[in-house]
Amino acid sequence: GPRIGVVALQGDVEEHVTYLERAGADVRPVRVPGDLEGLGGLVLPGGESTAIGRLMERAGLLDALRERVRSGDMAFFGTCAGMILLAREVAGGEPPRLGCMDLAVERNAYGRQVDSFEVDLTVPALGEVPLRAVFIRAPVVRAVGPKVEVLAVWQGRPVLVRQGRCLASAFHPELAGDLRVARLFLDMVAA
Ligand code: GLN
Repeated sequence: GPRIGVVALQGDVEEHVTYLERAGADVRPVRVPGDLEGLGGLVLPGGESTAIGRLMERAGLLDALRERVRSGDMAFFGTCAGMILLAREVAGGEPPRLGCMDLAVERNAYGRQVDSFEVDLTVPALGEVPLRAVFIRAPVVRAVGPKVEVLAVWQGRPVLVRQGRCLASAFHPELAGDLRVARLFLDMVAA
């Protein structure tokens, strides 16, 4: 299968490894720039975006990845904290990040009373069956740029977005286990 890396510094790494393997990917943990060799795609997991961003910066991964964003030879998928690390603009505490998607997000903005929740999303790009989505202290997407494709919304806010070879979700597809989001990403890797 396609060779995919998962940034393995903090967060729900194992869940992503299992999720992508079930979708047929050959999955490698990524901790240092050398681990990026031969990868077609990279997942930035959920977790704590400030911690992940700082560790990525310290490991030299942010610099190494900026080159790959420019060259376009790798696809990226960020979930929750990972979405924050891909967003150009972040409110509520700015982590070091890639910032390669034209998104403005606000961290932890669904409110304390609803720290985590599950909903069924309509995602036309994935077919008619609703997609179960688990949100955990998720970022709210406040604005998207003109090149961003909104693939799903919940309560009027984009929650699954794509821009070129970058995919991001405010929720955790790896926790609900529906493989359609992983397959969508693997298609982007192959494209
Ligand atoms: N609240 C976390 C952050 O701001 C993201 C939570 C998650 O990834 N589930 O980084």
